[in-house]
Amino acid sequence: MKSVKCDYCKGPAELVTGKEIYPHRPDLSSKRFWSCKPCEAYVGCHQPNEKHDHKFWSPLGRLANGKLRRAKGRAHLSFDPIWKDRKMSRKEAYRWLAESLGIPSERCHIGMFDVEQCEQVIKACGEWRRNKVKSLTSAPRTTKRRKKNSHSSRAVNFIKYTDYHFGYHLLHDKLEWWPTKNKWRWRNRTYSGNVHGFIKNIESKGMQ
Ligand SMILES: [Zn+2]
Repeated sequence: MKSVKCDYCKGPAELVTGKEIYPHRPDLSSKRFWSCKPCEAYVGCHQPNEKHDHKFWSPLGRLANGKLRRAKGRAHLSFDPIWKDRKMSRKEAYRWLAESLGIPSERCHIGMFDVEQCEQVIKACGEWRRNKVKSLTSAPRTTKRRKKNSHSSRAVNFIKYTDYHFGYHLLHDKLEWWPTKNKWRWRNRTYSGNVHGFIKNIESKGMQ
């Protein structure tokens, strides 16, 4: 019979129901968890596959204590938007993460990570965002044809508030731009799409 060990004390983990782990969540009462009470550590389970596991409740990852659960939560908050907002497909995002962390992709799952690896996820995602913003906020390359028109070849210089929040004074009103969300706000309206084109279009109209 397969068993699960606690990743902290190496003692045997106990298979319990959601009633024990989340007493205030009746919706989770039928779920199973591997738990180590002395370490206050637990992990959820895959639904057993009778064909392959002979009703074994296989853990979703390693057992996690409170500190690791919080670290995993932060890692998910940092990583999930990258594929949920469709900056990359989920598969691509995990491949990128495995590469950034220098681990094989089959072991690249936040559920398997320790606290240190969770911190690495957050760091890598932060860096990825900063690079993404840098590439979005650098002025688009102008073509030869565009250069004939002095308005449109001028680079748009944004004011940086934070890594994710930029501003621009457009016809004496403040435009706020969130490049990772591809959204901006100007004169009480929210827009999305090509902010550079939008600004140039408004400015050329305003200058006529
Ligand atoms: Zn333990």
